[in-house]
Amino acid sequence: MSDPTRDLIFPTPVFHEKIWGGRKLADDFGYQIPDGAIGECWAISAHPNGDCPIERGAWAGTHLSELWEQHRELFGGAEGDRFPLLVKIIDARESLSVQVHPDDAYAAEHENGSLGKRECWYVLDADPDTKITIGQRAHDRAELARMIEEGRWGELLNRVPCHAGDFFPIEPGTMHAIEGGTLILETQQSSDVTYRVYDFDRVGADGKPRPLHIEQSLDVVDYDMKAPESGEVTAPEVDGVTELMECPNFVVERVRVSGEKDLEQTWPFLCASVIEGAGTACADAAGQTHEVARGTHFLAPSGCGTLRLSGDMTLIVSRLP
Ligand code: ZN
Repeated sequence: MSDPTRDLIFPTPVFHEKIWGGRKLADDFGYQIPDGAIGECWAISAHPNGDCPIERGAWAGTHLSELWEQHRELFGGAEGDRFPLLVKIIDARESLSVQVHPDDAYAAEHENGSLGKRECWYVLDADPDTKITIGQRAHDRAELARMIEEGRWGELLNRVPCHAGDFFPIEPGTMHAIEGGTLILETQQSSDVTYRVYDFDRVGADGKPRPLHIEQSLDVVDYDMKAPESGEVTAPEVDGVTELMECPNFVVERVRVSGEKDLEQTWPFLCASVIEGAGTACADAAGQTHEVARGTHFLAPSGCGTLRLSGDMTLIVSRLP
């Protein structure tokens, strides 16, 4: 029996112009993107600032947020007033601002009930000698305020080398910046709350500096966090699967397919992004085989049965814990 309502769901990405963005989303991925500096592809998102339309299959004509609201059975009845995850590709031609995100408690109180933002980066590509900023060296609020005031960025910020295949968890309260020359797949909580600490004295499209959020940043920085020295993945690969991160908000894995690979889909749902290679994906309950390739993103809903993957490709897969 095949049930098209349990087939894989292919959201259409939403693109965002950013002053630091580039053209790789078109040149490397072949996406149809607007003109200009396009920094972000919101690939699997139900966030109001970029709610992915669904343009094919049983749910064509809806948006991901509507599926979450009206067809919670597709998500295994998972709870919550909004789809919890957001998967993005970030093309940083230039460096993003140095920023920090709040946790859920702070965001709920100060940002209109928004979620906090825990995120993580899988590096898809990086120019030679590229670095990434992750973590800060101030020990308390007063010291951080002083270092920001005096512009001691080199001393304050922890920068580490960044290579394709590296993985960086970014906990709330961690100062961070993606530096220019980096292409990243980001998995994060569905939140758009960013506190900008430093923007390299740049000006935005309107010729004015983008606003900074120093007070909020001083509030939310985790002064006890230990900054990492590298993003090298050391977790073991078991049968093609490497667990990259498990946290209260999500689990992220890298899945390598060489030939055939079945994934048991027993979770409320899976988000999957093909980051390398090409092949096919088929949900057993629907029986429909889909061609997928680098840059394809899909959701495997609850009840889709075994997810049958075939080809020569690498995916980043995320789910609720
Ligand atoms: Zn961030």
